[in-house]
Amino acid sequence: MTFKVSPGPKLDINKANTHILPPFTLIEPGSLKELLEVKAKYGEKAAILAGGTDLLVKMKLRILEPEYVISLKKVRSELSGIRREGDEIVIGAATLLRDIELNDSIMRLAPALFDAVIVMGGVQIRNMGTIGGNLGNASPAADTAPPLLVHSASVKLLSTSGERIVPLEEFFTGPGRTVMRPDEIIYEVRLKALGKGCGSAFMKIARTAFDLAKISAAAMICVEDGVIKEAKVAVGSAAPTPVRARSAEDALVGKAPTPETFLEAGKAARNDISPIDDVRSTAWYRRRVIAPLLHDVLQKALGRIGV
Ligand SMILES: Cc1cc2nc3c(=O)[nH]c(=O)nc-3n(C[C@H](O)[C@H](O)[C@H](O)COP(=O)(O)OP(=O)(O)OC[C@H]3O[C@@H](n4cnc5c(N)ncnc54)[C@H](O)[C@@H]3O)c2cc1C
Repeated sequence: MTFKVSPGPKLDINKANTHILPPFTLIEPGSLKELLEVKAKYGEKAAILAGGTDLLVKMKLRILEPEYVISLKKVRSELSGIRREGDEIVIGAATLLRDIELNDSIMRLAPALFDAVIVMGGVQIRNMGTIGGNLGNASPAADTAPPLLVHSASVKLLSTSGERIVPLEEFFTGPGRTVMRPDEIIYEVRLKALGKGCGSAFMKIARTAFDLAKISAAAMICVEDGVIKEAKVAVGSAAPTPVRARSAEDALVGKAPTPETFLEAGKAARNDISPIDDVRSTAWYRRRVIAPLLHDVLQKALGRIGV
């Protein structure tokens, strides 16, 4: 189904929010097959509309002016849901953030992701926003990204020519950019459930409760016989993309899970980030705060082991 929406004048408004959408043609595919065909046909001229909480804002700011907007409204059921597959949790791309927040498996087996979704905007945003939209928007501040990175997530991409699975670490290529081809969509996100002896957590520092992060961090640690056997750490809003903090991970493995170890790992993470000054914070602050932030997030992950 296709509609032509408000063919008004093209405004050169220099990124001020007019609250007016630029003209576009709305397409509402009725099946996954039709969705992929339409995406293949219009490619870069088309944007996927999931919850619209990022896309519509960017369109009103004229950051994006897609000729075609492809709504997921009628295919939502084919792209939504949370299920277990062996040691993985599979989340459909159009699954609402609110449904992730309320899912018992996420709370128990991917608590870092639970921590992240409950601080994303308000309930209204979480009732509209989707996990696929958060990743597709590719903001360095995307709150689901650090928890998904520490849970070794990958993204399944679909197109008319087939599917491919991309590790999340390779998915983002810069602010607003991903490895997705113009004919591809995000179909689902797969992440590893917590194993025995492991805990995970996420924290963010923001200007206000509903704001994007000044900086965020997630950690997953596994402890055996009083020693950290495995550690994954990821940081948001501190580089052009959400990043793994491998120096911090190296500083953790083989050590006792003490506050001192956690603080040292936090300091080591400064080698893994390249923060900038922007509207939300400064590079100086981000470099300073990463050590206590990681200390706290690691303590939280540790406290969850065996819970
Ligand atoms: C008031 C407010 C508060 C917010 N707070 C936060 C916050 O605290 N933390 C945070 O991380 N974000 C926040 N956001 C941003 C936003 O809500 C999230 O990023 C949300 O997850 C986006 O999901 P969506 O379904 O609305 O995406 P949309 O806006 O529909 O899409 C976003 C982008 O992803 C693409 N896309 C969507 N689905 C797919 C798909 N299946 N395949 C390929 N591409 C796709 C779209 O084309 C678009 O480019 C906030 C936004 C607002 C307006």
